Amino acid sequence: SVKQAGRNGVAFFDLTMEAAIRQRHQMQLDLAAAIDAGELRLYLQPQVDTRNRIVGAEALLRWQRADGTLVPPGAFIPLAEETGLILPLGRWVLHEAARLLQQWQSDARLRPLRLAINVSPRQFREPDFAQQVLAAVRDRAVSPDRLELEITESVFLDDIDTARGVLRTLDDAGVALALDDFGTGYSSLAYLAELPFDVIKIDQRFVARLQNPTRQDEAIVATILALGRRLRMQVLAEGVETAAQEAYLLTHGCHLLQGYRFGRPMPREQFEALVLGQPDEG
Ligand code: C2E
Ligand code: MG
Ligand code: MG
Ligand code: MG
Repeated sequence: SVKQAGRNGVAFFDLTMEAAIRQRHQMQLDLAAAIDAGELRLYLQPQVDTRNRIVGAEALLRWQRADGTLVPPGAFIPLAEETGLILPLGRWVLHEAARLLQQWQSDARLRPLRLAINVSPRQFREPDFAQQVLAAVRDRAVSPDRLELEITESVFLDDIDTARGVLRTLDDAGVALALDDFGTGYSSLAYLAELPFDVIKIDQRFVARLQNPTRQDEAIVATILALGRRLRMQVLAEGVETAAQEAYLLTHGCHLLQGYRFGRPMPREQFEALVLGQPDEG
């Protein structure tokens, strides 16, 4: 009967829910253990200038599980953010980045590179966040301007005054600041103008549309590039995959590019080999 089917439907739903909750809880336990077990990896994706020279990298987190599978951040960052695990995880990323920069400082060809790390909103809102960052670079005797923090617009939603203060502290100390996924949030142009960002990252969904752009697509990208020029911020396009996208961006004055066209996120050794293999500056 209909009633029977309904009851079965509910029972089935409950089972699925229970399984999902149990799975989520298991993942939370695994992730907590992963930090101590040394299962986290920073993959590096090249960022290039208008002459296709690698000027830096974005560090992208991977979780390499004991069975060898590589879990992408989309599969565990949201859970980490909800449970608070993002705080120890974010600290691990920060210290790993500082350690890498320290090692790069002893090689003349790696020394100029800038390393960008992603900062989650919850991590950014920690009262001592700026102090954590400054201590990490100080402890490794790393020049603060080699480190770049990628922040999304969502950190400005609740308390713009506090956020502005944190950014100013970091900027005053010389740390580079990038606004990630620009164009996808709701930040107003008025406050962007008064925040000390060095780099605006055009979100990859706009770059994807440049493959076959409408006038509206072109207008959005042209507007972001003009904004960068007026605010004296560099503009970086993420998700560049094709020659057509690259040509469009370079013709319209984009400063920096990142995407599969120039390299996928890769293990650190592979990234360094790529940099060291570049012809010397002519
Ligand atoms: P995001 O910061 O916007 O990073 C860019 C994402 O685009 C990365 O995905 C990268 O692998 C991918 N990507 C780069 N080039 C291309 C391309 O040409 N085509 C396409 N289709 N995709 C490209 P990934 O590594 O899966 O990271 C996803 C998101 O996870 C990141 O987005 C960032 O928000 C977050 N994330 C990564 N690492 C960390 C971390 O250490 N901490 C925090 N809080 N978040 C992180
Ligand atoms: Mg990013
Ligand atoms: Mg600055
Ligand atoms: Mg992004």
